[in-house]
Amino acid sequence: MMAKGMVIIGAGECGGRAALALRDLGYDGPVTLVGDEPHLPYERPPLSKDAMASDAPEIKAIASDAVLAERSIRHIHSVQAVAIDRAAHDVRLSDGSALPYDKLLLATGSVPRKLPMPGLGARCVYLRTFNDALVIRAHLSAGNRVAIIGGGFIGLELAAAARRLGAAVTVIEVQPRILMRGVPAEIAQVIHRAHEAEGVKILCGDAIAAIANDGVEVRIALDGGQEIVADLAVIGIGAVPVTGLAAEAGLAIDNGIAVDAELRTSDPDIFAAGDCCSFPLAIYGGRRVRLEAWRNAQEQGALAARNMLGAGEAHAAVPWFWSDQYGLTLQISGLSDEGSKVVRRDLDDGAFILFHLAQDGRLVAASGIGPGNSVARDIRLAEMLIARRAKPAPEALGSQTVKLKSLLAA
Ligand SMILES: Cc1cc2nc3c(=O)[nH]c(=O)nc-3n(C[C@H](O)[C@H](O)[C@H](O)COP(=O)(O)OP(=O)(O)OC[C@H]3O[C@@H](n4cnc5c(N)ncnc54)[C@H](O)[C@@H]3O)c2cc1C
Repeated sequence: MMAKGMVIIGAGECGGRAALALRDLGYDGPVTLVGDEPHLPYERPPLSKDAMASDAPEIKAIASDAVLAERSIRHIHSVQAVAIDRAAHDVRLSDGSALPYDKLLLATGSVPRKLPMPGLGARCVYLRTFNDALVIRAHLSAGNRVAIIGGGFIGLELAAAARRLGAAVTVIEVQPRILMRGVPAEIAQVIHRAHEAEGVKILCGDAIAAIANDGVEVRIALDGGQEIVADLAVIGIGAVPVTGLAAEAGLAIDNGIAVDAELRTSDPDIFAAGDCCSFPLAIYGGRRVRLEAWRNAQEQGALAARNMLGAGEAHAAVPWFWSDQYGLTLQISGLSDEGSKVVRRDLDDGAFILFHLAQDGRLVAASGIGPGNSVARDIRLAEMLIARRAKPAPEALGSQTVKLKSLLAA
């Protein structure tokens, strides 16, 4: 019988990697990658970083047309998958066509959380896609005023890029500090200071009362009485998983498309991976998590491909995330627990790492910040300790003279 093949919905980081992985694994049936954006699968992290530095930002493609053709991966772009017929094993597309599948991967990613407020117009934008980045880039020039709503990673990276291009930047964060979600206060403080040193105005602990937009200027009134006037407001208040297609098809949803450790949804022939799914993480006692991180999207794309071919392998990677702002790089590995004990290790050049130990002494996370790549090696070693469920002595973690590598050997 002819294979119907593998269909992947979402031609982003995860979908693109999954398609390539299917071929790396020797699968020789049809592979179809469906994406609703007009572009080749591309990297999103540069959109708030390097891509903004250039006058004419370019896409950093994950695979060129030539590579996709050479590997017989059919890429259908600018088309949305609108329905899944699970009984017939086919996916209906917005152009009216249908694609049959043996196994289906949903890699639909996430989209920016919308600010639930009237008054937003063309000058209030979100950043997720390359096309969004082009709109934003057009406003990042000397003398322009940019308001960033939300002091999270994307907003802060964009603030740094905007300052580099000479724009006047104000960051508005409703929480008492920036990076409240998942970043220790000590590290957030370093980033806060770096932004202020570069001339970014950061307003924390004040909610937005109203926004008015006349198509030329945005006026943002804060509860505390201040008004920020900007040429552009970029809203970065988090992301929500894209689950509509899965939900309509009756698949289980739980803070994302719910999958098991092998990334299989409640339908055994449908997998989900990347930003759109929540999955149990064995090294954290099976805790269900959803990650919005580049490496996770890559790893899960590759794992989904293996499991679509029957490998039966559980996801075991330790979560990892990075962010670049000015010359600083922040890296976080693992998941910190409420009430975990924190041990600090100082490195050269003002860099430092915070190790998070659970109540039972197990290392559960490490977060570090410093210039360039200064924390990368130690974070990598910490990640290996986390994966081994190690319980290193706090004194050893904190000591600059004890090499982390020696703790791995122990
Ligand atoms: C500006 C920015 C900066 C970032 N920086 C970092 C960073 O520094 N470090 C880090 O670790 N992570 C970073 N990330 C996060 C990282 O890029 C994401 O975690 C990763 O892209 C997720 O990959 P994905 O394939 O799951 O989703 P996506 O890359 O979002 O791809 C999903 C694709 O599916 C498409 N799609 C959705 N529904 C359908 C449908 N029904 N039919 C067809 N197509 C559909 C979407 O349009 C999209 O193209 C950043 C993200 C952004 C936006």
